[in-house]
Amino acid sequence: MHFEPSRAAALSRLSEFIPRAGKAYASSRNHDDGCVEGDARRNVSQLSPWLHAGVIDEAEVIDAALAHHSPRASEKFIAEVFWRIYFKGYLEQRPTIWQAYIDDRDNAIATMDQDVSLQAAYSEAIEGRTGIQAFDHWTRELIATGYLHNHARMWFASIWIFTLKLDWTLGADFFLRHLLDADAASNTLSWRWVGGLHTKGKTYLARQSNIARYTANQAGGPLKAEGLVSDAPPLVEQREHPRQELKLPGTPCAEAYSEPYALLLHDEGASHMPLDLPKPPALVISAARPEARSPGQIGDAARDFARDAVVRGTKSAAQAFGCEARQWEPSADLAALLSEAGVRQVALPFLPVGWTRDALMPELAPMLKAGTAVELIGELDRATWPLAKAGFFGVKKQIEAVLAETGITGAGTAASLVV
Ligand SMILES: Cc1cc2nc3c(=O)[nH]c(=O)nc-3n(C[C@H](O)[C@H](O)[C@H](O)COP(=O)(O)OP(=O)(O)OC[C@H]3O[C@@H](n4cnc5c(N)ncnc54)[C@H](O)[C@@H]3O)c2cc1C
Repeated sequence: MHFEPSRAAALSRLSEFIPRAGKAYASSRNHDDGCVEGDARRNVSQLSPWLHAGVIDEAEVIDAALAHHSPRASEKFIAEVFWRIYFKGYLEQRPTIWQAYIDDRDNAIATMDQDVSLQAAYSEAIEGRTGIQAFDHWTRELIATGYLHNHARMWFASIWIFTLKLDWTLGADFFLRHLLDADAASNTLSWRWVGGLHTKGKTYLARQSNIARYTANQAGGPLKAEGLVSDAPPLVEQREHPRQELKLPGTPCAEAYSEPYALLLHDEGASHMPLDLPKPPALVISAARPEARSPGQIGDAARDFARDAVVRGTKSAAQAFGCEARQWEPSADLAALLSEAGVRQVALPFLPVGWTRDALMPELAPMLKAGTAVELIGELDRATWPLAKAGFFGVKKQIEAVLAETGITGAGTAASLVV
């Protein structure tokens, strides 16, 4: 499938998929039928790249599902969308997990630099030369398309950790370098989940029979995965990650917009459309930072999708508001850019824990502290994140209440789905 980093493409994919977001999704979503050049998959939405980039948001997707299906029929699809929100809220309350991932990844890279046999095993894995047909197939698919089915991601991570015995942080880094939807929360926490670090002691074991069953519809027949281990002992870590108080920005008061402001769009908030802006900005700034996701080389597809989403989102916001657009390059000074444009205030989509935040915060943090910058957070995240204290169940049982609280009923689709 071709992923075009625009809102029009996201909405087109949403409306194409949504008739299948009911019972058909629940019964078929676990099948990895493979990708046919140019075609979208039928059993899953493939909306994750646009959701990650903030080109559309979860509220719009859930609203569209409820407009076409009963809450019961779309329950499974909506729950999956809530997994994404849950992971974000969880990482937001345990930010040390992200820092520990960065530290452990850097240590794993340094260790590998000293160990020739480790380098060889790693190269075989990331170049699709392990000899495990299914694993090598997914490696090539990931590099070529920037997307993998959820089940393939689970099998891949399990084989990486337990059969190939490679460091999980190197696998998570490989995903971040190539996935169009690369997301600090969903990726880090899913890898931790497979390895037994998220639900402590509970691991995910990839089995050949399961892979064959759920890849039976691939063009070349079921994928083979010979030689997999039959045991998946949980990984252990020394560090604890205690929950921290969730500090979410309030809804900006009128004074926050009392003078002309710049809207700053970034890799996780690349469109103004899902935002609730009380008045038009005087300037739109694009701040794409796809290279910040890894010290390694970022795949072309992932880099281009992330950058183009921000560039296109900025252009379309500037057109919609009839204002100027500027690019904030990594090496440039934001304060100078603002002063040249005669603007002092900045509003931006919320920056969750992850690399985009790490890359932009050094310049934005003092402005947020001084009140010259405000972060904008969607009501669905605001209502759900506090519930993401431990396991997903704590969120799942509240989905109905959260949707009622945030007014997501399926009635808003026509109004919200605008290019
Ligand atoms: C090891 C591993 C790494 C992953 N890394 C990422 C990542 O970097 N970014 C990312 O967005 N997802 C990640 N996921 C979660 C999931 O695989 C993808 O969100 C999903 O495959 C996207 O495809 P889709 O849009 O067709 O999903 P659909 O099945 O159509 O689901 C709709 C939406 O719900 C959300 N969603 C569905 N399943 C999950 C899930 N298990 N966890 C979190 N959100 C979910 C996604 O936003 C998705 O777009 C990872 C999963 C694993 C096991």
